[in-house]
Amino acid sequence: NLILEMKDIVKTFPGVRALDGVNLKLYKGEVHALLGENGAGKSTLMKVMNGIYKRDGGEIYLNGKKVEFKNPKEAQEAGLAIIHQELELVPELTVAENIFLGREPRKGFLVDFKELIKRTQEVIDRLGVDIDPRSKVGDLNIGNQQMIEIAKALSQNSNVIIMDEPTSSLTPTEIDILANLIDRLKKKGIAIVFISHRMEEIFEICDKVTVLRDGKYIGEVKVEDTNEDELINMMVGRKLESRFP
Ligand code: ADP
Ligand code: MG
Ligand code: MG
Repeated sequence: NLILEMKDIVKTFPGVRALDGVNLKLYKGEVHALLGENGAGKSTLMKVMNGIYKRDGGEIYLNGKKVEFKNPKEAQEAGLAIIHQELELVPELTVAENIFLGREPRKGFLVDFKELIKRTQEVIDRLGVDIDPRSKVGDLNIGNQQMIEIAKALSQNSNVIIMDEPTSSLTPTEIDILANLIDRLKKKGIAIVFISHRMEEIFEICDKVTVLRDGKYIGEVKVEDTNEDELINMMVGRKLESRFP
């Protein structure tokens, strides 16, 4: 059940070949890690996928059909959501307003607040977290803000959710909550791209790993068929001495 395929993607910035023939195959209900050192091209690949950047080569297929997203809105409408490293929430607005920003239910010209809160509560319940739809996003901790971004993706009926280094500012408890949530999303058939360079998370959370190094596609492995040493070797291109002499 292949949902998304990126083939031979090339993207250059002035003086940098950020992506040089990169492939990614994403199947329904899998959690797919995108692994690479800082600057390897992970964020660029995701931004090419959803139309933030125009690529210089390669093809993208969604459910077997060639697609061309001119902007993130088009990608979102096709079911692809990105949660960026820097969250894009409006701190002064409420949880409900953030989740349905620009898509608020209306009564005539006015926002139908009762309906807005009801819909927000439904999405939050699907996440299984305890957040008040009326609270101000700026008052929430980072873990809950991350949940609001995920809630927003869910409310848009996304079937692919890309999380760009989602755990970088989470506490260990929040990481556990996120891991649990990812597991439930996956069981609903949602495919997740989990960008990270933390090995222990990849082994705990992901099913497959695609490795990039210096904008190049190094390969794809199943988590159950690999180990930390092999992944580090793919990521940095040299064998490390065993840390357990
Ligand atoms: P990663 O997410 O794996 O850390 P990035 O995709 O952010 O890596 O960056 C890949 C390469 O592309 C880096 O060399 C980075 O400096 C360069 N790059 C990324 N975005 C831009 C941009 N908007 N303009 C110029 N260079 C960029
Ligand atoms: Mg980076
Ligand atoms: Mg990045």
